Amino acid sequence: MKKLLLPVLIIAILLSGCGKSKTNINIDDKYRTTYEIFVYSFYDSNGDGVGDLKGVTKMLDYINDGDDSTDTDLGFDEIWLMPISPSPTYHKYDVTDYCQIDPEYGTLEDFDELLSECHKRGVRLIIDTVFNHSSSEHPWFKEAADYLRDHPGIDFKYSEDTGSTVPEDAIAECRYLGYYNFSNDKARGFEPLAGTDYFYEARFWSGMPDLNLDSDEVRQELSAITDFWLGRGVDGFRLDATTSYYTGNDLENIEFMTWLNDTVKGKNPDAYIVGEAWVNSATYHKYYESGIDSFFDFDYAGSEGIIAGTVRGNSPAVRYSDSLMETESSIAAVNPDAVNAPFYTNHDMARSSGYYTGSAGQDKVKLAEGLNLLMAGNAFVYYGEELGMKGSGKDENKRAPMYWTADDSTEKPKWLGDTDLKEGMCDGPKDMDDVKMKYPPMDQQALDPDSIYNYVKKAVHLRNTYPVIARGTTTTIPELSDSDICAFTREMADGKYESLLIVINASGEEKTLDLGSSAEASKYKKLAFSLNTSEAGSSFAKKTLTVPAYGIAVLTK
Ligand code: CA
Repeated sequence: MKKLLLPVLIIAILLSGCGKSKTNINIDDKYRTTYEIFVYSFYDSNGDGVGDLKGVTKMLDYINDGDDSTDTDLGFDEIWLMPISPSPTYHKYDVTDYCQIDPEYGTLEDFDELLSECHKRGVRLIIDTVFNHSSSEHPWFKEAADYLRDHPGIDFKYSEDTGSTVPEDAIAECRYLGYYNFSNDKARGFEPLAGTDYFYEARFWSGMPDLNLDSDEVRQELSAITDFWLGRGVDGFRLDATTSYYTGNDLENIEFMTWLNDTVKGKNPDAYIVGEAWVNSATYHKYYESGIDSFFDFDYAGSEGIIAGTVRGNSPAVRYSDSLMETESSIAAVNPDAVNAPFYTNHDMARSSGYYTGSAGQDKVKLAEGLNLLMAGNAFVYYGEELGMKGSGKDENKRAPMYWTADDSTEKPKWLGDTDLKEGMCDGPKDMDDVKMKYPPMDQQALDPDSIYNYVKKAVHLRNTYPVIARGTTTTIPELSDSDICAFTREMADGKYESLLIVINASGEEKTLDLGSSAEASKYKKLAFSLNTSEAGSSFAKKTLTVPAYGIAVLTK
């Protein structure tokens, strides 16, 4: 760490309230602002067209330079790397060796260097863990499959309730028979095992055989894998496909995650875990029973989520904060230590710049990013969303190369130094369509104060300046809110961090509000921060607040 915690906290306290300054608050808790990176498409350090770990390290200063006196970095304080272990696919969600780095991405030494550079900057690094299934090319599966090709006639007695039972003499000869679910019939979610009369469970795809998570041996392997990465110093894990651990059985999913959480936290109580449960919120709220810190809040994400709905005007603006109140209390009721994990898009969703059409499209792209970054919890941003990158349809398009620069780029920001962005541009997944970008590349946007990039940067810095945004609870101010305006307070029950009044104008017209109409809002006397989609900012005098179209005003007491 470059900086000691105490001086940073003091600086943070001194700066809170002045609004304009940026500060990375290294508060030692799990409320972060996280940048999701698909390494394959991020930055190529060696000219083979594939992004790599050295490329991420090279561009770390773009994400966070660890220096509070600069405002040239985005200010994220956590990074989530999508899978980095060896895999036969470009996306690497089917792993062949859980304790190695895919050679396309580099080496374990490259990983250690990236981790060390992150920690120097006060940035935590979490990695994707794909424990529902392995690759069909994993040695565990290959050994089991080889054994079965030589041994026809084993009776696995598979049923959906009990899973597979492997005869003792067979498992004595090949322990990996117990690592997966084999059967003699084509059960639901099963695929034929080539060269045999057997079948194996593979819910996603034949190349991704489901691991038998009931097996003590498998659990020992997974424990050793988390041990390995924690030993290298990673700060936590993102759990892939948690609803599929025991497909259709939430109680068993919770039991497994309770075991996993206890296992990881037993080794490092400060480790952070976020789960992917792409399912209705009633279910993923219940998953907090497992003790897992966070689950991605799918209710708010994607083209049909609450964020896009609010920005599009499909629902009254006030539904945003009313929903937040429900979400926050629902999660806290299950686990008071839960940290919500808001996100707006990810690698499985269409890029958000395609959600909005018309002349106000860019304003709406910006406002939506603002709504994501104003949510309490650990807010996640998918790489390239800060540029309004395009990409929809097939998955490859959603994972297009980071748009650092373009042929018509003539200038670049000074802080890039001698970095040649053209050299770092990745080719992207082989089956990707030609994805045409709608907004300029990073180097051009960085020089334009009104760009999406500069808006997102301001929103992250707003979040860093006021710790209450991530850590507080939401209360709607009904007197000020309606179909166009969403006004709410964000406060800590213990008053630890300064409270805020946040007023969002989700309409295309300037709005004027009388804060005197609400006793609660009247307590807020100072306009501290204005997050605007264009040059026009909010103004505040004598309890009258004016917020421009698609603008956000933040007030302190
Ligand atoms: Ca490379």
